[in-house]
Amino acid sequence: MKFGGTSLEDEQAFQRVARIVSSNQSSNLVVIVSAMSGVTNALIKGFQRAGQGEASEALQTLERHFERHLKVISHLSATLREKMIVVIEQSRNEIIELLAHVSASRKTSSQPMDAMASHGERLSAKLLTSVLEEYGIPASYVDARLCIITNAEHGCAKPFLEETCRQTRAELQPLLKAKTVPVLGGFIGASKDGVTTTLGRGSSDYSATLISAALGAREVQIWTDVDGVMTADPDLVTSASTVSQLSYEEAAELARLGASVLHSKMIEPVVDQKIPVRILNSRAPERSGTLIWAGAEKTTQAVRAIANKTNLIRIDITSTPEFVANGFLGAIRNIFDRHYTQMEIVATSEVGISFACEEAGALSSLVQDLQQLGSVETKSRQAIISCVGDGVQSVDNSGKLLNILSEIDPALTWQNKSSHSLISMVDEDCVGPVVRQIHQGLFERGK
Ligand code: ASP
Ligand code: MG
Repeated sequence: MKFGGTSLEDEQAFQRVARIVSSNQSSNLVVIVSAMSGVTNALIKGFQRAGQGEASEALQTLERHFERHLKVISHLSATLREKMIVVIEQSRNEIIELLAHVSASRKTSSQPMDAMASHGERLSAKLLTSVLEEYGIPASYVDARLCIITNAEHGCAKPFLEETCRQTRAELQPLLKAKTVPVLGGFIGASKDGVTTTLGRGSSDYSATLISAALGAREVQIWTDVDGVMTADPDLVTSASTVSQLSYEEAAELARLGASVLHSKMIEPVVDQKIPVRILNSRAPERSGTLIWAGAEKTTQAVRAIANKTNLIRIDITSTPEFVANGFLGAIRNIFDRHYTQMEIVATSEVGISFACEEAGALSSLVQDLQQLGSVETKSRQAIISCVGDGVQSVDNSGKLLNILSEIDPALTWQNKSSHSLISMVDEDCVGPVVRQIHQGLFERGK
């Protein structure tokens, strides 16, 4: 069971989680947690502030969050409470030291940043362990850095699967045999020489599926604050409804293309063993949520869900037809890999390719490198809207979809025959209206 930050936002939320764990105690459980909501952001911001020489201001901004942690344990029995007060104080002291260090050096490198960010998950996992104990559930905090072994790419470290599998089993199986619930922080790991790493923002889901795969789990449950994967972003479409089932391919595609409850890498570890993944609501645990599994029923519907991703830049590269036909795409991919940048191709033609990528860091040097391949044009503040579902592959369905899209006339529409999605690129400002219009056409017509 993995609980996200919004399922651990305050004392009541921790109680809800304890009740959910308690009602599933008969099964062999492992619990993975995110940091309390807002804590990772606050830690990263604080770290950056310290990097500008403002260590004490940075600490000021974090005090509120230490208070929130203290509040969670305020009604525990005296012994547990005292133990946890020491734990929180220890973490605070380590953070003060880190802040002082970056403030003095004025360097915000990613290694101490990972050390800083790791405190959120380490604390919430320790807190939940004590809350579970108070509920009479035998539970034991496990340092995830002993289980998830990664390379040293700080900020987006990649796990070594064999080591992770071996370590996770060695750490967790004895506890499971003793009927004790291991509680671990997601998001964090350690390099082979024991230095703290993180797996990328929002990656606690990924930690959960990695650990599930290592243990050969029967099921993974991702507990969040919505009912599951929705037919569209509920912030944009009030009538969005829960998707009851998804295949692994559909889920992976939705995750990649921006569905907010799914982390982009979380499906990969469970596919081989066909471990089912359930997305559930910690505020309404009786609801059935979304089930991602190998037996997902095929629907006649064209699309299971619409995902959207904003804050993208559109890049068009044109070159000679000869080059485009031979080696062009490979050369482009190499450049993106070299810059650690993900891309989403949106359209290809005889003389060029258009794609979208995240509007982040080293874009200008990326563009410079791309210019060696042809002429390059860029357009920022773009978004991609993706209709995802196995049904997209049928000619009938994609015809219907293209019909809806032609009313909207997005800048570009692209369908990859081998994949399960139809992707359109629009200006960022149009995302809301376009998603609503597509949703209406696909899910609400005739209702
Ligand atoms: N707490 C981490 C983050 O905010 C990881 C997660 O929530 O999954 O990115
Ligand atoms: Mg998340």
